[in-house]
Amino acid sequence: MTLRTAIVGLGKIARDQHVPSIAKVEGVDLVAIASRNATMEGVPSYSDVETLLAEAGDAIDAISLCTPPQGRHQQAEAALRAGKHVMLEKPPGATVSEIGPLVSLAREKGVTLFATWHSRYAPAVEPARAFLAEARIRSVHVEWKENVRKWHPKQAWIWQPGGLGVFDPGINALSIVTAILPNPCFLVRSDLHFPENRAAPIAASLEFTDAAGTPIRAEFDWREVGGETWNIHVETDMGRLSLREGGKKLFVDDAPTVDQPDAEYVGLYRRFVELTASGSLDVDLAPLQHVADAFLLGRRHVAEAFIED
Ligand code: NAP
Repeated sequence: MTLRTAIVGLGKIARDQHVPSIAKVEGVDLVAIASRNATMEGVPSYSDVETLLAEAGDAIDAISLCTPPQGRHQQAEAALRAGKHVMLEKPPGATVSEIGPLVSLAREKGVTLFATWHSRYAPAVEPARAFLAEARIRSVHVEWKENVRKWHPKQAWIWQPGGLGVFDPGINALSIVTAILPNPCFLVRSDLHFPENRAAPIAASLEFTDAAGTPIRAEFDWREVGGETWNIHVETDMGRLSLREGGKKLFVDDAPTVDQPDAEYVGLYRRFVELTASGSLDVDLAPLQHVADAFLLGRRHVAEAFIED
């Protein structure tokens, strides 16, 4: 049976990844759109999730939420209440606690709730996890740096409370770290740099550790103009493992071991089809919990105002 899926929030990620990936995955079809301002040729479009459910509810099985995190809880709740499977873009919500009631509602309705972490589907992530399961880890260093003007142009929501600022990409790194390290880590220091005119940080330096005392450092920065750096380095007794380009490439002692094209969103939709077929949930809040901790423990530094033309 094909999973008849509607996309809610036809913005950058919906157009760049969700629409083309649905077209590539067997067992899922795009049957409707709900977006306040955007429509798609050839696909029935509605202004919001409530109208979509009222007017086309019988024609859809699942909803993929590609809206900003603020407000996503209400949309997910409406979809689950109507008995639809729900896939959440990352981060799964604007707060950690708002996800619990969605999990309960999905269970009550017997439908799938899938909190996605697309970076975990990058090709080097699983080989890195398998390598680290056999190794003694000495230290971890995450560098996640990009130009906000290039990657998030005019996204007002990303600077507002709940938009996460530099943690919007940084949480991708945390989703990989929490997937590949054999032991859970926890935050011990957080320095957050807020532009004087914005409610979300433009840069963050984090220090974590784990039960073995492993030093784990992460640097997130949106002020990088010389190209992107999305790397995770792990020093081990078996050599230095480096995930580069957001998990697309894997090196051990600088020798390439994995270099494959991006197929993250195809992986996500395959997983969504599997989960709905078995009526299962997949909700891991660890990356969002770390971000919440970074705000809890954050030392606030004031940075230059961020002005976008
Ligand atoms: P975006 O380009 O701003 O698109 C989001 C869409 O949601 C908008 O086009 C808008 O369409 C709709 N929307 C509904 N309520 C909104 C509101 N209050 N404010 C703004 N838009 C609203 O954002 P995006 O980059 O696609 O990101 C969406 C989600 O995907 C975020 O959680 C982000 O972290 C995640 N994500 C993004 C990327 C990326 O590379 N951009 C990568 C991975 C994941 P209408 O105006 O038509 O309603």
